[in-house]
Amino acid sequence: MLITRPGSVLPPRCIKCNAPAELPMKQRTFRWHHPAYYFFILVNILLYAIVAMAVQKQAKVTVGLCIAHRRRRFHTLLACWLAFLSGIVLIIASAAYNIDFLIIPGVILIPVGFICAIIFSRLLTPAGIDKSQVRLKGCGKAFLESLPTLQG
Ligand SMILES: [Zn+2]
Repeated sequence: MLITRPGSVLPPRCIKCNAPAELPMKQRTFRWHHPAYYFFILVNILLYAIVAMAVQKQAKVTVGLCIAHRRRRFHTLLACWLAFLSGIVLIIASAAYNIDFLIIPGVILIPVGFICAIIFSRLLTPAGIDKSQVRLKGCGKAFLESLPTLQG
């Protein structure tokens, strides 16, 4: 687990493999709320969205990625959005040319592309945010081992 301060700039190394980071590093916004609020999803997804927006805490942290990891992330996200867009194109084509069976892959590709884009765009998973600390999961072992250990 990486523990840092809100607004901090991490060392210029890749958070996944500890190779030198490609510069300039990007500032990322992380949002987190207490897991108990997920209970609201069971009640009503819209209610959850409103509650989550109200209670979530956010923090900005500047993180580094090496060229290889940045490129891999870019290609993965590109593939997700292409799947999403081809879903839309298939639905339009199905309506325009009256080809009914095209609507099925279209209806599948749109949510799959969208959900994958959300999942893969997440570099690190926040495990807690308050005024003084940001806790982030998902850094590579070599990167974590290069950082000082939190005492106490
Ligand atoms: Zn890397």
